[in-house]
Amino acid sequence: MCDCGIINTTKENITKISKMKLAHIENDRIICDKCNCECKSSMQKVLILKTKDINLGEIQIFPDNLSKEINDLLNSYKDTNILLSKTRETGVRLEIENIIFNIDVDMIWSQYLSFYNDTNIVTVGSSHVIFAMVLLYIMEKAINGTNNVIFLSVPYIKNPQMDIDLFAEIKNNKVRKLLTMFCCKWNSKECYFSQEIYDKLNRFSEQDIVDSYKIMTKYSDGVKNQQSENENEYKYFSRLIKYGTNFQKNLTYLRNRINKQ
Ligand SMILES: [Zn+2]
Repeated sequence: MCDCGIINTTKENITKISKMKLAHIENDRIICDKCNCECKSSMQKVLILKTKDINLGEIQIFPDNLSKEINDLLNSYKDTNILLSKTRETGVRLEIENIIFNIDVDMIWSQYLSFYNDTNIVTVGSSHVIFAMVLLYIMEKAINGTNNVIFLSVPYIKNPQMDIDLFAEIKNNKVRKLLTMFCCKWNSKECYFSQEIYDKLNRFSEQDIVDSYKIMTKYSDGVKNQQSENENEYKYFSRLIKYGTNFQKNLTYLRNRINKQ
């Protein structure tokens, strides 16, 4: 751990903190980015989650190109001890056998999925929260090992220019959703709101907006969305998103009024 307490992890997981952008390595020493102090090891009584006993399997994520990155991160946690308590004050105290442990707040929110009774869960987050997704997944597998979790990682969408907020300029919630989904370039981690799509959506009539939304959710690849016999939930979901959010296709279907067929 470091002097300010931000870096506080088990020795085996120490290299992961540079991926979380909390510290950097300098001449084989791990330096905290906040307090600039070198991390030192110490012996303490702590609470840990042993991942050895959890059947972690493989994370299903859409888009496919993030599969390697997220599963490499998951694999680095297989057969390790994840620290559940921190040395610093966290605001969440737990007393076990007369010892007070400060529970890591990340370990509290990451139990979020276990509050749902559903066995199929789709979790949405931007490409900036891959690390949080892995933690969420590990906790869900530790609590409900049999649930099927699929992650959808939406590209992080930025405005084309710093001083223009295209999203904020739209008042209609449905148009906001359309702009967001149509601007997602699923092969990229980051992309931009498109001025062209924004301008076209602004010329949409009330009926166009309703129909376009219907097409996106009901007609992913020109035919009514229906899971085919040999398709698992992941493949079906992946197809739905990929084709459903293609603006040019949506526009073509809209002109042909495919949803009226
Ligand atoms: Zn520090």
